[in-house]
Amino acid sequence: MHAPSHTYGTGTAAALAALAAQLPPHALVTESDVLDAHRTDHAPFCPSGSPAALVRAHSTEEVSLVLRTADEHRIPVVPQGARTGLAGGANAVDGCILLSVERMDRILEIDTTDQVAVVEAGVVNAVFSRAVAEHGLFYPPDPSSWEMSTLGGNAATNAGGLCCVKYGVTGDFVRGLTVVLADGTVLRTGRRTAKGVAGYDLTHLFVGSEGTLGVITEVVLALRPAAQTPLTAVAFFPTPAEACAAVADYMADGTRPSLLELMDRPTMDVVSAYRDLGFPPEAGAVLIAQSDRGDQAAEDLKRFAHVAQTHRGDAVVADDPAEAEMLLEARRLVGIATQSLGAYLAEDVCVPRRVLADLVDGVADIARRHRVLITCVAHAGDGNLHPHVIFDPARTDEVERAQRAFGAVMDLGLALGGTITGEHGVGVLKRDWLTKELGPAGLRVHHSIKRALDPHGILNPGKVLADRV
Ligand SMILES: Cc1cc2nc3c(=O)[nH]c(=O)nc-3n(C[C@H](O)[C@H](O)[C@H](O)COP(=O)(O)OP(=O)(O)OC[C@H]3O[C@@H](n4cnc5c(N)ncnc54)[C@H](O)[C@@H]3O)c2cc1C
Repeated sequence: MHAPSHTYGTGTAAALAALAAQLPPHALVTESDVLDAHRTDHAPFCPSGSPAALVRAHSTEEVSLVLRTADEHRIPVVPQGARTGLAGGANAVDGCILLSVERMDRILEIDTTDQVAVVEAGVVNAVFSRAVAEHGLFYPPDPSSWEMSTLGGNAATNAGGLCCVKYGVTGDFVRGLTVVLADGTVLRTGRRTAKGVAGYDLTHLFVGSEGTLGVITEVVLALRPAAQTPLTAVAFFPTPAEACAAVADYMADGTRPSLLELMDRPTMDVVSAYRDLGFPPEAGAVLIAQSDRGDQAAEDLKRFAHVAQTHRGDAVVADDPAEAEMLLEARRLVGIATQSLGAYLAEDVCVPRRVLADLVDGVADIARRHRVLITCVAHAGDGNLHPHVIFDPARTDEVERAQRAFGAVMDLGLALGGTITGEHGVGVLKRDWLTKELGPAGLRVHHSIKRALDPHGILNPGKVLADRV
């Protein structure tokens, strides 16, 4: 063990010495360059502290040892997956142990009869999806970060994605968990059967809890039979509001597309600057729709084109899979392309679909009033809009305007009957707005649950809930 980069109390030194003695070589890291590299997720503008150490755990037992030791010495622990989070949930807090499960990356079982799998928390989503596909099975939750993010992180944030409009979000596929509690106790929740109602639904208490209630080490995931190859259509609209109105009408029509994504003009420009995909220059917004209903798909997309037309949209169905893949690639590039613009705050409001047009118009108004660029991309079929507030971090006034605009978007989402976060989570980014969304009773219950499971408040303190216990 190398000397820690910062000086900490005797409790921390004793805890780290105890862990160094019991963990395998190289599992405990204190070199400052490594700690710095693990300090933040993809929300670097959220506050982050100086960690005391990083532990790369290889087993549930090692996670249990770390938590038991940290709890005894009252040392904060920040669970980490691949650190692709967009809300600062995996950011270090001062003096913490960063507890990474990335090395727990084994697919333990794929059961083709019961169509269920058991994985360690550090398995990367795309690795798993490809592995089950080899068995003719399908794991639908596909966050755009799927080539990087872990299934444990996906469960801890209840991640969504492009296919969720038809198939549901991560939580809809999580049947059971192995979770290590703050004091090191190993808890197994849920089941692997298709049905089961024994006891409280502890599994879904941990899903979406962002590392504040326990560390997930294994996940039992439901699978589906492989879907049919989807057919893809694209429709260009004069304005984002017209595209959103088409989304509401198409979704009200009764058929579920397997994907329905929106990009506004600024987003198309951002993606085009990164890779030119030939978007028409006059279009104000684009919708990408898919149907995977086999023989019915062509009919589904014909109806999509018809609905688009009634909102001044111009739709075409992709002739070949390569063209369809290029369109999806454009959508998946949004995150990376936006990052290349420099500093931005990633929004994630979700509203009822019937008011999605009001939300995009309201966001445009907020951008004008605060004199900032806001690009909008959406899992439109879910009413889940991602306005990205772009700003120059060197200009204090612009940073302040960006922050005010960011808050105004969340206020608008709540006023329209929505939520401040559809899939990215609260982390530290949205803590203050969570209070608004939950109300006093909801907040009280949240604090009670946190106190019951983590009485010393060591697990990811200051995340999701503002106050330490
Ligand atoms: C380019 C890009 C695109 C993205 N697209 C999407 C998208 O389409 N949909 C979407 O929902 N999100 C998206 N995200 C956000 C992010 O990828 C997801 O939130 C993802 O689920 C985080 O997984 P992770 O392994 O990186 O977790 P981390 O970022 O490491 O952690 C996220 C949170 O979960 C906690 N955590 C992590 N692992 C565990 C564990 N084993 N036990 C307990 N707590 C844990 C952390 O403490 C933290 O609070 C995107 C991010 C990027 C950078």
